[in-house]
Amino acid sequence: NRQIVLNDYIKGFPKESDMSLKTSSIKLKVPADSPNAILVKNLYLSCDPYMRSRMQKSEGGYTESYTPGTPIVGYGVSKVVDSAHLNFKVGDLVWGMTGWEEYSLIKAPETLFKIQHTDVPLSYYTGILGMPGMTAYTGFYEVCSPKKGETLFVSAASGAVGQLVGQFAKLLGCYVVGSAGSRDKVDLLKTKFGFDDAFNYKEEQDLTAALKRYFPNGIDIYFENVGGKMLDAVLLNMKIKGRIAVCGLISQYNLEQPEGVYNLFCTITKRIRMEGFLVFDYYHLYPKFLEMVLPLIKEGKITYVEDVAEGLESAPAALVGLFSGRNVGKQVVVVARE
Ligand code: NDP
Repeated sequence: NRQIVLNDYIKGFPKESDMSLKTSSIKLKVPADSPNAILVKNLYLSCDPYMRSRMQKSEGGYTESYTPGTPIVGYGVSKVVDSAHLNFKVGDLVWGMTGWEEYSLIKAPETLFKIQHTDVPLSYYTGILGMPGMTAYTGFYEVCSPKKGETLFVSAASGAVGQLVGQFAKLLGCYVVGSAGSRDKVDLLKTKFGFDDAFNYKEEQDLTAALKRYFPNGIDIYFENVGGKMLDAVLLNMKIKGRIAVCGLISQYNLEQPEGVYNLFCTITKRIRMEGFLVFDYYHLYPKFLEMVLPLIKEGKITYVEDVAEGLESAPAALVGLFSGRNVGKQVVVVARE
């Protein structure tokens, strides 16, 4: 059983060398001392920014630290190869938490979602039909209180979550602008995802002026994925009674000292609702979400771009790449296709 393990707790930016490929032996049977467990073959693994926080020693955050020397844990799509659990049978496809390894023993499989619809790419259950899709859906519909005709700005807009937020907002009739870190990503936003406009934040000297150019009358909704300087510039450009869904702050995850947000006082003067949210609180909405998104995919009304890395051994580089923007779209790793 080939596995990607975390060598030790990290500080600063994650590196490929923080993880190693190891091989251990495994019996492809649920052991007798693990009642209710299932054994899965991992097909697709998801690389997600929150995994960075699990690579450091826990400081009481909302996620548990990884244990050095053991496989990285994350979302994935897997196939059941043996089961001691009544609700799972051999051949079932599931998505949820699994190990960065070829086969994983899952002791509490109740938290996994069973995959019922297989007429879409299975890798989508790491992205548009999985946790990032649910994040975009709940963040946009449950937190932003969006209305037709409003203006929406989303950062990290070409990523797993951002590309969907922009498309949901377009479907509702919002005016949508996104920021991303390369010209190719900006092109993708405008051509493939149908954003009204987009810009490369790395080419802007003055983010406040850039946002003023795209939103001369201000921003109703900001879907926050990056934090730091971008948030500060956005606050000055928000409209009165605007809403900010605080989904993520990726520009801050690798810094020892978070950067200051000087314009936070705008939340008062402009009566802005700035609301943090965690997708885990909304998983009860998953059936409603599938009902909405599956037809949109099948009718081609929504599109999804993935960045697919081949082989378990490519997983560390793929994960590290999230923090330099190497990924174009949802970063997924293929361990096996069936
Ligand atoms: P992405 O697929 O968007 O990958 C991360 C992207 O972030 C990179 O491609 C890069 O794009 C951008 N980025 C990296 N470093 C910086 C930086 N210093 N400044 C600005 N942008 C940067 O990731 P996801 O879509 O999966 O996640 C997006 C955000 O949503 C993250 O902050 C994540 O933590 C958060 N999240 C929150 C959840 C919740 O429950 N609240 C659940 C899931 C995700 P670029 O080239 O454009 O810079």
